[in-house]
Amino acid sequence: MSYSFRCENVIPGCEGEVHGETEAETLQAAAEHAASVHDLNELDAETVEKVKASITAD
Ligand SMILES: [Zn+2]
Repeated sequence: MSYSFRCENVIPGCEGEVHGETEAETLQAAAEHAASVHDLNELDAETVEKVKASITAD
């Protein structure tokens, strides 16, 4: 199983999508995307929860 996260669920208008083998890996990929594309180097707890809630299993 793999997991995916669509950035637009947290940042409307972003077409970014990341994938991972585990939920944790997907969360890490989302954090890297946020840092490189959105200049969000530290995700606050609220944002992390939003990301986790938006991760879907493929
Ligand atoms: Zn994005």
